[in-house]
Amino acid sequence: MCYIKGEKMYDITLIPGDGIGPEITQAALVAIESTGIRINWEIVDAGAGCIETEGTPLPAKVLESIRKNKIALKGPITTPIGTGFRSVNVALRKELDLYSALRPAKTIKGIKTRYDNVDLVVVRENTEDLYAGIERKIDDNTAESIKIITREASEKIAKFAFNYASKENRKKVTAVTKANICKLSDGLFLEATRKFAELYPQIKYEEILVDNMCMQLVQQPELYDVLVLPNLYGDIVSDLAAGLVGGLGVAPGANFGDDIAVFEPVHGSSPSLKGLNKANPTALILSAALMLKHIGEAEASFKLYNAVTNVIQQGKTVTFDLGGNASTMDIACAIAEEVKKI
Ligand code: NAD
Repeated sequence: MCYIKGEKMYDITLIPGDGIGPEITQAALVAIESTGIRINWEIVDAGAGCIETEGTPLPAKVLESIRKNKIALKGPITTPIGTGFRSVNVALRKELDLYSALRPAKTIKGIKTRYDNVDLVVVRENTEDLYAGIERKIDDNTAESIKIITREASEKIAKFAFNYASKENRKKVTAVTKANICKLSDGLFLEATRKFAELYPQIKYEEILVDNMCMQLVQQPELYDVLVLPNLYGDIVSDLAAGLVGGLGVAPGANFGDDIAVFEPVHGSSPSLKGLNKANPTALILSAALMLKHIGEAEASFKLYNAVTNVIQQGKTVTFDLGGNASTMDIACAIAEEVKKI
């Protein structure tokens, strides 16, 4: 961070990503700029497009830039299914030890869903579990993947979840596992969450199996507050939670390590929408609102969040996924106009 004429200027890494990434990133920049917060964006590319130019989908300069600036805003990056390179997203989180993913799912008035009072935060362990990527083909008809759960990573995510709940005045933390089947690995995860539940007696603590959690969330999501989960269940349940409040187009996220944070939407690169200027940029813009709060710009964050919810509630400028026909840039411009009125 540096100071220019008494105003703060933040150095932040920007990774546009691929698929719909570049177009929603352009839209997000318009919305962020309207808050008046001055950011010197260091733009770096990652993903399939870098293989030809850099020989790798995750060039070293991406990691260097994030390590230097400590903060990044990131668009989605495609991961080939089956063969091809391993996930850039997983590698980034591992390399930078971004051990916790925070994914809020909150009802926005004006979005038609079956629920009107959802306010959930999914806290997902981000570095291990089946994402350790330890797989092998035993023979032509058999393959195995190894699920790694360590006490160290489980305690880090449990501590993060209770600390977040306490700081944000949340009332309850629910640990979500399949510990009846994965007795040792998910059992270890629960040892960690129980340890921190004892250290935060003011926060209600409960445990639930992930299959039951999915049903409970569909039937009565308003009963839940902060959910803490190992990596794979966290990935799946955060998409479910996004579905409760209007879908992936409005689901923001953040990845935290001890001193680095990378803000990105829950959704992926959505290849079928690429280049159509139709994708909803809201999830990335709400991720940017989380980022502004994180860097200490609470007022700008508040304005950006409220501008998003006002525009959606007014219902005139919304993208196809929310029942409208506005373009990616239309909604960004409407949000930017709204920020100036707040
Ligand atoms: P996806 O999130 O890209 O798309 C799922 C569905 O949601 C699609 O119907 C899509 O059109 C819709 N959708 C997603 N974002 C939207 C938006 N902003 N506006 C409107 N509709 C939107 O998931 P997928 O199709 O399973 O994955 C595509 C690629 O993205 C894969 O390669 C996957 O590995 C990758 N991915 C990346 C990240 C990341 O970069 N963090 C996260 C998830 C998936």
